[in-house]
Amino acid sequence: MENVVIIGSGCAGLTAAIYCARADLHPVVIEGSQPGGQLTTTSLIENFPGFPDGIGGFELVNNMKQQAEKFGTKFLSEEVIFIDFSLKTKKLTTATGTMEAKAIIVATGAAPRFLNIPGEKNFCNGKGLSTCATCDGAFFKNKIVAVIGGGDSACEEALFLTHFCQKVYIVHRRDQLRASKIMSEKVMTNNKIEILWNSVPVEMLGNEKLSGLKLVTSGQKNILNCDGVFLAIGHTPNTKIFAHWLDQSEEGYILTSYSQTNISGVFAAGDCADPKFRQAVTAAGLGCSAAMEAERYIVSKC
Ligand code: NAP
Repeated sequence: MENVVIIGSGCAGLTAAIYCARADLHPVVIEGSQPGGQLTTTSLIENFPGFPDGIGGFELVNNMKQQAEKFGTKFLSEEVIFIDFSLKTKKLTTATGTMEAKAIIVATGAAPRFLNIPGEKNFCNGKGLSTCATCDGAFFKNKIVAVIGGGDSACEEALFLTHFCQKVYIVHRRDQLRASKIMSEKVMTNNKIEILWNSVPVEMLGNEKLSGLKLVTSGQKNILNCDGVFLAIGHTPNTKIFAHWLDQSEEGYILTSYSQTNISGVFAAGDCADPKFRQAVTAAGLGCSAAMEAERYIVSKC
């Protein structure tokens, strides 16, 4: 039987692995369908402490993986397809078999929602389309950008982008923001922000780099020229497979108290349990907390 199995290999999962491995627990990481998690789709990370010149997303997670391996973590390039948390010994099934563990750390992350419109896939990875203004905003100094969405995230992203950009459009599909009153007021009184109401993006335009958005505004087709597009239409936590076992919010985020889920010995960390911050550094911190709680659980209860 394994001591601890970590499901997911993004920032939270890898940090949990480093801590569990250094505690001599010989953790196993099941890497999942996107090894390295969301960071692998970000070009340069300038806000992870310790890297004054920034670091590539792929390089950062690769470094974390090497660090976890160095202390004895085993990586399985597989996906969990079945779970049984009914007994004290937890069971996980992948395509190649079933394993048992004393403790589990769920770090399956979340996926930003995409519009699924023509052109969208062409501009990921530093070509003008981003899902995180905090990560990529500084690359759009004095540029014109559009934020898609009308919730608190869209408003927060738009306000953040005004620190760098010449002009920020919020493109919203309705005539009213979903965001809280205070956030709505902030964007509506910021003279760098213009809201395009009743506007539905139907295509992303550009050759090498993104150069505009095709919109349908109140039934009329038009083109918005811009250098960048930030999607803020929500995230979906990768937690479906746990729905039967772990208490979740309405949106599917795993509910935790100090990393502990409703099932003793099952912990959760990172974006799958964090609807609010979703930063690499917060995910790493939550991975550390989950590992420390898992270690305490194994020492005291197993
Ligand atoms: P959200 O509240 O679900 O808003 C998503 C927005 O995207 C909505 O305005 C929605 O339009 C729009 N949208 C969704 N699918 C779309 C599509 N296919 N095409 C065009 N537009 C689409 O998500 P969120 O803004 O990420 O916020 C999530 C949660 O975190 C909320 O509870 C929020 O309050 C919270 N949050 C809080 C803060 C803060 O307190 N500072 C900051 C960020 C987030 P409709 O309005 O028409 O549905």
